[in-house]
Amino acid sequence: MEEVRTQVAIIGAGPAGMLLSHLLAADGVETVVVESRSEEYVAGRIRAGILEQSTVDLLRASGLGERLELEGDRHRGIYLQWPGQRHHLDFVDLTGRSVWVYGQTEVQKDLVAARTAAGQQVHYEIESTALHDLETDSPSVTFIDAAGAERRIVADAIAGCDGSFGPSRVAVPEDVRSTWEKVYPYSWLGVLADVAPSTDELIYAWHPDGFALHSMRSESVSRLYLQVPNDTPVSEWPDDRIWEALATRLGHGQDGWTMTPGPITEKSVLPMHSFVQSPMRHGRLFLAGDAAHIVPPTGAKGLNLAVADVGLLAPALAELLLKGDARLADAYSDTALRRVWRCTHFSWWMTTMLHQSGDPFERELQLSQLRWVTSSEAGATGLAENYAGLPIGF
Ligand SMILES: Cc1cc2nc3c(=O)[nH]c(=O)nc-3n(C[C@H](O)[C@H](O)[C@H](O)COP(=O)(O)OP(=O)(O)OC[C@H]3O[C@@H](n4cnc5c(N)ncnc54)[C@H](O)[C@@H]3O)c2cc1C
Repeated sequence: MEEVRTQVAIIGAGPAGMLLSHLLAADGVETVVVESRSEEYVAGRIRAGILEQSTVDLLRASGLGERLELEGDRHRGIYLQWPGQRHHLDFVDLTGRSVWVYGQTEVQKDLVAARTAAGQQVHYEIESTALHDLETDSPSVTFIDAAGAERRIVADAIAGCDGSFGPSRVAVPEDVRSTWEKVYPYSWLGVLADVAPSTDELIYAWHPDGFALHSMRSESVSRLYLQVPNDTPVSEWPDDRIWEALATRLGHGQDGWTMTPGPITEKSVLPMHSFVQSPMRHGRLFLAGDAAHIVPPTGAKGLNLAVADVGLLAPALAELLLKGDARLADAYSDTALRRVWRCTHFSWWMTTMLHQSGDPFERELQLSQLRWVTSSEAGATGLAENYAGLPIGF
């Protein structure tokens, strides 16, 4: 077996893993990244699209803001609506913070370009990833590389950035980890369409037929979602049915607003669940991003939480490995989880406020909540503060 040594072995080349590698390099810490998929597959995955203020600040501060400045679209807020009513919440007026529309695919491209330019070692298309000796100062990761060779990376620390299906979270012994999970009784049908958005900012729509969201990726690409029952086959939703449902739920014709349909280029059904695992550190293994927590996408928090974790983890590992100072590393799990639980609550709150559960009592509570959030400055500010994002160290 071929063996190499590095300071941090990073499992997963998604946004958490690649950003961690980038931030650690800036601090002078060497990393090797391993990834089970191909570079093209990871870069092409259509996922998150909204960056909160702290994410943008961190990307800018670490030299990754150039294309984001040019191509990202800064939004002041969102629209919240239910039949007959549409209200704009202006996050800038309410909290002084805003959000940016800039897809995860673009963030990933920027990260890969920066790491490639720096000569970062990334092993793509690996198999049989396994973690070893986590409770020692020399943990290691073994895997089979794309050419079929067995390899071992011995490191001072391992960063588990391998998402919800990776081996890192389950490498924490069962008697050490606690997990919390909630599966929601509905999913999202997400579509990407080659048509200019029919709105300047995102529209979150409560509707008796189910939730709908009008988001966007660029001036010419719209991202749209419809609440559907769990396990809905995509084949049940031909394009015409999708546009009809979007027009109804988003209020085509309401106060003169119109929705323009266009060619749909991608369709998929996304199940919705919440998951948290604690602690986010075991020995020399540190979990970050989806490896430690999952949120339903309603609050646009998944990618932002991954970035926030890594924003805490990079200085913690640098202090530990370069100066032998363990204080930030020891505090990492508790500090990160404070924000994780805040975002978990916010994502659950947005989700349960906007989706139909079939319970008439909940329906009246949802409408009452929507009226409060859109008419009270205190209610609106709470939503705005959470949506535009709390500081990374919150
Ligand atoms: C279908 C979908 C849609 C989403 N939509 C939204 C959205 O609209 N808004 C939002 O905010 N968030 C959304 N999210 C969540 C957001 O994309 C994630 O929170 C974000 O990708 C987290 O980044 P990460 O780096 O932690 O994990 P990931 O991006 O999942 O990266 C983990 C990486 O680890 C790799 N890996 C897994 N197993 C192994 C292994 N054994 N060995 C080596 N590597 C491995 C994976 O291939 C992957 O590349 C969505 C997620 C999904 C799945």
